[in-house]
Amino acid sequence: MRIFITGVTGMAGSHLAEYLLQGEGLEVYGSFRWRSRMDNLDKLKEDGRLNIIASDLEPTLPNKINSSKLNLMEADITDPFSMKRVVAMVRPDRIFHLAAQSYVPVSWIAPAETLHTNIVGTVNLLEAVRAAGIDPIIHIAGSSEEYGYVLPNELPVTESNPLRPLSPYGVSKVAQEMLAYQYFRSYGLKTIVSRGFNHEGPRRGEVFVTSSMAKQIAEIEKGLKDAVLYTGDLSSKRDWSDVRDFVKAYWLVVEKGTPGEVYNIGSGVAREVREMLDMLLGMTDASIEVKLDPARLRPSDAKVLICDATKFRKSTGWQPQIPFEKTLKDLLDYWRERV
Ligand code: NDP
Repeated sequence: MRIFITGVTGMAGSHLAEYLLQGEGLEVYGSFRWRSRMDNLDKLKEDGRLNIIASDLEPTLPNKINSSKLNLMEADITDPFSMKRVVAMVRPDRIFHLAAQSYVPVSWIAPAETLHTNIVGTVNLLEAVRAAGIDPIIHIAGSSEEYGYVLPNELPVTESNPLRPLSPYGVSKVAQEMLAYQYFRSYGLKTIVSRGFNHEGPRRGEVFVTSSMAKQIAEIEKGLKDAVLYTGDLSSKRDWSDVRDFVKAYWLVVEKGTPGEVYNIGSGVAREVREMLDMLLGMTDASIEVKLDPARLRPSDAKVLICDATKFRKSTGWQPQIPFEKTLKDLLDYWRERV
């Protein structure tokens, strides 16, 4: 079975590739850009499990594809030609569409770029599938940010909750999901959407709140910065899972999910950002002052997001396994090795 992952150089994509490469009988392909940060694939590289397929214009795969390796091909989701080329070459049976401008705050600074990457990028992928005349199962990574403004009596949120996105990123994910639905209805493409709540762990981009705090602690421990940790709003509540549990859920989406459906994925437990920070601070001996940085506040924020994943759990049997303490410890250790 051939698997194609967009955004394989990202946090979730790299963990998903590693997870799939443990399985039997899977050929795993992923797309990267010339400027992609490749360090999330360092482990696969060190293990000799990266195979970069040359970016020539020959529209066929090399004769010998190594199924124990991640086969990497260059493509930008905003470019319809590169998406058509890569999808026609791989002819995947399963697609995980993870590539996105994924950082909410950047979506206020660069809303048009966020909408273009996430919406037009999805159109380009879906059109590439149509043009190739293939019939893969396509997982689209939506987000809890689609819910945005949630009323207290709507918690925990189920899939039937109104979508009231509070950022251009949230809007882009709603549009992505609508495209998935429309291509399912219009053309019978087997799209399945997950609305993922926050997931974290090693390789989380340094701008995201958990990673930003863990990185600052690691820098303070090494004396690389003053013992002051800067934060945004600590009162928001988020439903956090481990990315390594999440990529198993993503596999279950394509194995057991129903095309045309939407599934919430999350732990069902909400914690304040402050509680997450206290957990991280409890893992260091450094004495650290915490200060609010007004620049880190958002124009509008989903105050509380708690997932009701009953539908997904009933359909797939998924259960998160990794305690949040371990997720944070592994994230902190990740930064301790890097700063
Ligand atoms: P990351 O930001 O770590 O990874 C995003 C990936 O998208 C990177 O590989 C990036 O590649 C790629 N990408 C961005 N723009 C393009 C482009 N124009 N062409 C090709 N590739 C591109 O995100 P995560 O791994 O955390 O998230 C994966 C998906 O899950 C995203 O769609 C995100 O929105 C969604 N999601 C994530 C949640 C989370 O808590 N992590 C929660 C809910 C949804 P490059 O290195 O080249 O920039």
